[in-house]
Amino acid sequence: MAKTKETILEISLAALEHNYHFLRSKLNQTTKFLAVVKAFAYGSDACKIAKKLSDLGVDYLAVAYTKEGVELRNAGIKTPILVLHPQPVNFKIILDNKLEPSLYSLKILQEFIEIAKKEKQKNYPVHIKFNTGLNRLGFTIKDIPKILQKLNTCSSLKIKSVFSHLAASDDLNEEEFTQNQIKTFYTIKEKIGQGISYNTMYHLLNTSGILNYPDAQFNMVRSGIGLYGYGNNPTIDKKLKPIASLKTIISQKHTLKTGESLGYNRAFIAKKDTVTATLPIGHADGIGRQYGQGKSFVIVNGKKAPIIGNVCMDMIMVNVTNIDCKEGDEVILFGKQNNAEDFASTANTISYELLTSISSRVKRTLIS
Ligand SMILES: *Cc1c(COP(=O)(O)O)cnc(C)c1O
Repeated sequence: MAKTKETILEISLAALEHNYHFLRSKLNQTTKFLAVVKAFAYGSDACKIAKKLSDLGVDYLAVAYTKEGVELRNAGIKTPILVLHPQPVNFKIILDNKLEPSLYSLKILQEFIEIAKKEKQKNYPVHIKFNTGLNRLGFTIKDIPKILQKLNTCSSLKIKSVFSHLAASDDLNEEEFTQNQIKTFYTIKEKIGQGISYNTMYHLLNTSGILNYPDAQFNMVRSGIGLYGYGNNPTIDKKLKPIASLKTIISQKHTLKTGESLGYNRAFIAKKDTVTATLPIGHADGIGRQYGQGKSFVIVNGKKAPIIGNVCMDMIMVNVTNIDCKEGDEVILFGKQNNAEDFASTANTISYELLTSISSRVKRTLIS
């Protein structure tokens, strides 16, 4: 492996492939797989990840916003793309790029019907999103007659899938709540199935859903975090491989005498002689101030070095007093050692937030 010479987010396509096969192994033969590549594929590199997953035979991709879907199309991705939160202002762009919108209210359903008619579309694929308890986006069961009435009298659109999203699939204390969501979704499936004259797909499960409620896989599952190596469960995390490793190097070392301070606002005062290393990564790169003042640590030559003082915009300082290291040595913030879930938890957050926070200033380096 090439020597680390600056701050990089190293992305392993081999790890992605491993995770994809692991998650697939939890599914029935006929269940389709939708890969969620929103937010730059959870902070990695959406186009490269989508390309690799398409090569592996993934059935569907999903992004949150229209712009993200356009970027995939511009990169030559041909796989169907569901846009989870498309925004009516972008509906023409949706059509022009053959993106497939999630429609979640009568108002936006009507707006999409109008533009699809105007653009002379026939059977344009759309996805109908139901709220079964998350109370974020989605139609309710009561809307079904109106949805069917609108769609059955219009040849411009066709329901490609019907879906919902679980609120607490990762939390087994909420099993009863989740089972209720599943039950509600079965009812929705029955009512929609009775109301249309063609087959459509149904999907409900995210990564933790696949792992905890495999019976509810319907026709397709939607996985994001699992593909990137995390399963909201330490046992599962052992079987997955983090695709992203955040690495940097030591820019300089300093020795503080007892009583000397470090960094802005003198947030660290040396209680004894202390050796520090300054690293070229800061809150502008996505390592926020909540990781500073001793809360989190990085790995220097296999040893834990706490982040001390305040995190700066472009740099952090770590305590390397008992670590054999020098300028230019590699430092790991998270990856296989010190995984992103553990690193995130030191600052009371989760892998999802940490991964998607790594800013565009950090160079992405792909390894196979
Ligand atoms: C982000 C998202 C997912 C993926 O969830 P993971 O927990 O990352 O697998 C699935 N479905 C919807 C609707 C989402 O917004």
